Amino acid sequence: MQASQPTHWQSAKVVAIETRTPRVKSFFLTPEQPFAFSPGQHLDIRLTAPDGYRAMRSYSIASASGPAAPVEIAVERLEDGEVSAFLHDEVRVGDDLDIRGPLGGHFVWPGGEQPVLLIGGGSGVVPLASMARHRHAAGLQAPMALLCSARTWDEALFRDELIGFDAIGGGFVYGLALTRETPRRPQDFSGRINAAMLEKMFAHLPAPPAEVFVCGANGFVNTAADAVLSFGIAASAIRTERYGGAG
Ligand SMILES: Cc1cc2nc3c(=O)[nH]c(=O)nc-3n(C[C@H](O)[C@H](O)[C@H](O)COP(=O)(O)OP(=O)(O)OC[C@H]3O[C@@H](n4cnc5c(N)ncnc54)[C@H](O)[C@@H]3O)c2cc1C
Repeated sequence: MQASQPTHWQSAKVVAIETRTPRVKSFFLTPEQPFAFSPGQHLDIRLTAPDGYRAMRSYSIASASGPAAPVEIAVERLEDGEVSAFLHDEVRVGDDLDIRGPLGGHFVWPGGEQPVLLIGGGSGVVPLASMARHRHAAGLQAPMALLCSARTWDEALFRDELIGFDAIGGGFVYGLALTRETPRRPQDFSGRINAAMLEKMFAHLPAPPAEVFVCGANGFVNTAADAVLSFGIAASAIRTERYGGAG
């Protein structure tokens, strides 16, 4: 395990690909030089065309932190998306990808015992899943409430695994807000994330969250962070990761 060299590009082999939802595939990568990372960090992936044209995009690490390899990223296929469509349509097991990382220092959950609230929209659940997986794998006790927004039940990324963590109990709660279907579990919600949903998620925590992590498309992050602020949570306690796009 090497110390991280964030600016260092290296080759990573795609050792498995898994379809997670109709629009999201996970890619499991084995870097030539394995690295340690913290839950919430991301990688850069660089594609190079035969004519030398390059495109680079960032993808959050989904895996629990620790020595486990391979590293999982989960990529949503955007219609006309240059890199996400290539990864979905062209990349095969056995291919090599140029990666750089781990990157990012502000959107990182170091663990600990303080209550934490996680809010993710669409593929924005990826770094939050890493935090939940890390909590589970490391046996951490921090009360953690995760509220995810997805269009439909089938599009809720990592849904069954997160429901499994919730079922274990021990301070982890998973709430799912569906915008285009009615909810299936009593603890889930209908519609876009709002203050009433947050109030119910807060009620699962023994105290106001010491840290809040919000991740997703720009508009989602703005709306969710504003809703958290309306509960009197300090802005300094809220960390955001913006994936781009308007939604
Ligand atoms: C730190 C970080 C971590 C990220 N982690 C992930 C991740 O784990 N999984 C993942 O799927 N993506 C993630 N992203 C987004 C990713 O980097 C790309 O922006 C995304 O895959 C689109 O790239 P593309 O080349 O396919 O589309 P482009 O060709 O760049 O864009 C196609 C069109 O889609 C729009 N668009 C771009 N991003 C979004 C979006 N998020 N929602 C809606 N429309 C959008 C663009 O404005 C454009 O109109 C992350 C972004 C950042 C900054």
